[in-house]
Amino acid sequence: MLYQDILDRIHAEIVPTLPQGRVADYIPQLACVDERKFGMALYDVDGHFASVGDADERFSIQSISKAFTLTQAMRTADEQLWQRVGREPSGSSFNSLVQLEYENGIPRNPFINAGALVVTDIVLSQLGDAKVALRDFARRLSGAEDVDYDLTVAGSEARLGYRNAALAYFLKSFGNLENHPDAVLDAYFHHCSLAMSCRELAKSFMYLARHGANSDGEVITPSQAKSINSLMLTCGTYDAVGAFAYSVGLPAKSGVGGGIVAVMPGRFSLCVWAPGLDNRGNSLAGSQALERFATWTGESIF
Ligand code: GLU
Repeated sequence: MLYQDILDRIHAEIVPTLPQGRVADYIPQLACVDERKFGMALYDVDGHFASVGDADERFSIQSISKAFTLTQAMRTADEQLWQRVGREPSGSSFNSLVQLEYENGIPRNPFINAGALVVTDIVLSQLGDAKVALRDFARRLSGAEDVDYDLTVAGSEARLGYRNAALAYFLKSFGNLENHPDAVLDAYFHHCSLAMSCRELAKSFMYLARHGANSDGEVITPSQAKSINSLMLTCGTYDAVGAFAYSVGLPAKSGVGGGIVAVMPGRFSLCVWAPGLDNRGNSLAGSQALERFATWTGESIF
């Protein structure tokens, strides 16, 4: 399969549409990102690589980091985790407080904010310094030793993250955080601020395309890799997950920085970045690019 030709065709078709999306504006650092940026990068299990556009420019990975923290929590506390977090699509916004109240402090899944806060709490309890642990994990997976947090983004998230703070304190009131909410929030905001490129993210997610292993060996078991891919398919793209599965048909995790990573188990890992979002919070051009990719290559899990 000539992935490079396909990425080039997608690039040519998508670039004129880029101004249609709307960049996230809840923190100033995201509001000023150039909406005309567009990059894609793909690694396959045979070692081929293809990329296009701004594939080497780092951006704020935001909620894509939730897949990394979930992986870390599953490596250390897989059983405990599923007593404290569910595995169902939320059907509500990713930062809903109401759903948490109705469901007695058990978040629907690890990819909504409440779920990610519980996952972060577990990583904090298991690994001590959750900030260093995640940064080092991302460095190891991407092979890029200088991957790091954007401390300005982390600072803004903390300064303006009132709703996340509400969720963390609410979780604590239900007894579903072991650590102090402020410690959990500090780690969570840093995780969201991780800056990585499409190339680095595509490489990092290869363990999910390779049944849990990357080129250094096992990251998680094949069964855990299957579980994370299933969760990405059913919960990874906000409250548009049904439409995304319908049109793309690949497990994927998106973030409000405009990145989406999609995985075809046994075949490849693919990352797209276009900062303009649709009204559900997924990259508009990124979703359209992935839909074209899946349609033109015929590669989807269905
Ligand atoms: N920092 C954002 C928040 O916690 C992440 C949102 C996202 O990418 O889904 O609200």
